Amino acid sequence: MTEIAIGIDIGGTNTVFGCIDSLGNTVIEGSIPTQTKDNFEEYIDDLISVIKSSIENADTEITITGVGIGAPNGSYRTGTIENAANLRWKGTLPIAQLVQNKLNVPVKITNDANAAALGERIFGGAKNMSDFMVITLGTGLGSGIVVNGDLLYGFEGFAGELGHVIVRSEGRECACGRKGCLETYVSATGVKRTVYKLLAKHLGDSALRDIPFNNLNAKMVAEAANKGDLVALETFKYTGKMLGEALSNVASVTAPEAIFLFGGLAKAGDLLFDPVRKAMEENLLFLYKDKIKLLPSNLGENAGIMGAAALIWNDETKTYS
Ligand SMILES: [Zn+2]
Repeated sequence: MTEIAIGIDIGGTNTVFGCIDSLGNTVIEGSIPTQTKDNFEEYIDDLISVIKSSIENADTEITITGVGIGAPNGSYRTGTIENAANLRWKGTLPIAQLVQNKLNVPVKITNDANAAALGERIFGGAKNMSDFMVITLGTGLGSGIVVNGDLLYGFEGFAGELGHVIVRSEGRECACGRKGCLETYVSATGVKRTVYKLLAKHLGDSALRDIPFNNLNAKMVAEAANKGDLVALETFKYTGKMLGEALSNVASVTAPEAIFLFGGLAKAGDLLFDPVRKAMEENLLFLYKDKIKLLPSNLGENAGIMGAAALIWNDETKTYS
């Protein structure tokens, strides 16, 4: 018999799930499209029946210890998803209660960045670390912050929104309705916006000049930079500088031992890490200089479900009943 925690990672396009044992091995995994149903409860019904049937069809007998869910705007405190920008269902969605009713095991939820931080702590590079943060770089910028050994949730459970710290007064418009948020500069979308800004500024040749905005992605910019494209190189320098400056400020509040970068942009490696490290060290208060490790995430492709499952393997005490 195998004891597992189910990890569910809800994205705007797909919902991925996995049965993860306490050592981080994936026993079963699968996925369903996220937004084909008008009704949220029908979506949950579909998801749970797919999970149940894959467990029934498994080679080994499986015991479920709990379900961890990583979801946009997921609150650990209330077990709900609240007005997630990239989901079709608005208002407050009582997801933990719905899943708990169906599977009769503890269910916990948090947002994707917090889940990534827990995954890093239980299964990844932050084992034995009590103070660290994970920055997730996707379409936006998320952050999961661990202080004194606990994930920082804050009142109502939404702490750690580093992506929406304002880094430029009257800066770029953000999806949150304000201007100058960090994620408008440091994210896949932010990188594209910087490329276009620099293309307008410079006259020289660039492989990126003929690519329409909607076709451009951060990977193309990294590839161009690796071939010496000046606009692409300057884009990474600028992006890294913005992130490094922001991290130097956050360090004064949380004093992390390490900062992990996770997600598509982090795959650019030194192109991003070098300017981040440089700007962070230049701006750090002397107390923290040359002490904070800047590291790539140690979790692989299924980091989302590992992180969600870590909600269960981390702590068995909290349920929403
Ligand atoms: Zn914002």
